[in-house]
Amino acid sequence: MLGVCRARCGPARRGATAPAYARRVPSGPRPLAPTYQQRRWTLPPDAVVHHGTVDDAVALLTGRTVTALTGAGISTDSGIPDYRSPDSPPRNPMTYEQFVGDEAFRRHYWARNHVGWQHVRRTHPNAGHRALATLEAAGVVRGVITQNVDLLHEDAGSRHVIDLHGRYDRVVCLTCGRVISREHLAERLTALNPRFLEDVLGERLTVADIEVAPDADAVVEQTSHFVPAPCELCGGVLKPEIVYFGETVPRERVERAYAMVDDADALLVAGTSLTVQSGLRFVRHAATSGKPVVIVNRGETRGDPLATLKIDAGTSETLTALAAALVGG
Ligand SMILES: [Zn+2]
Repeated sequence: MLGVCRARCGPARRGATAPAYARRVPSGPRPLAPTYQQRRWTLPPDAVVHHGTVDDAVALLTGRTVTALTGAGISTDSGIPDYRSPDSPPRNPMTYEQFVGDEAFRRHYWARNHVGWQHVRRTHPNAGHRALATLEAAGVVRGVITQNVDLLHEDAGSRHVIDLHGRYDRVVCLTCGRVISREHLAERLTALNPRFLEDVLGERLTVADIEVAPDADAVVEQTSHFVPAPCELCGGVLKPEIVYFGETVPRERVERAYAMVDDADALLVAGTSLTVQSGLRFVRHAATSGKPVVIVNRGETRGDPLATLKIDAGTSETLTALAAALVGG
């Protein structure tokens, strides 16, 4: 679990950083995706799942308006890994309490985020994001509720998006509530840590070589010298405007999401295992309301027993085929 570059180099990345950051951060909870749980779950053995094909979904959704609920799986084809995909290693989530209560933890988090954020900023929407935007432009999709913080739906052209768990490009002061852009914070962090990025990345490495997490976190081991930035107004603690594990989604945002589900005839779930209640509750709500629920995901999801139809496949190809069939584009 120590900075393995799975893409290219295996575990040999140790020592690639400069001696200035040589002290390894103690093992323990790592500041990873905030809303992700380490505990795995399994469907009950008697669960009934109605598996189907794209054609089945087209038949079910034709003539119906749809609200989409998306998760990390829709962004994996954009290069942002999904911790819960079948081949992902188990992860320890960072909690709100850890972030607020532990200064060393916060330093470690911001150091990693300073690297990972740049990767997320450079990612682009994929065919799955574009298919949902196409469906919205055609009047089929009423809106997208996403558990992702990467803003790729907005980049793809979706206009009605609820970023349920926040967005990576904003930072909030926990004391005075002032919100600033992540870009502005990046300039301040670079000024406070002028050699950090080049030391971490080394001469031969780029940001893309570093393992990047869905919440713009990244694996950086030596962070003890990193200097975080306080709020410029009040000196308070800055936190990404992201809902952490242990935090609740703001009530107003949840209500808007329920209203978006109510506004459509069906719910289309794409790229999420629905492990956290934060997303699962909308599937329950749709099913309880008698609305058809279509789930597109590789692997089991916690909502499978509630689904009218489950397609066990990737989101890019499935949503593209769905959009082509429903709107001809
Ligand atoms: Zn402040």
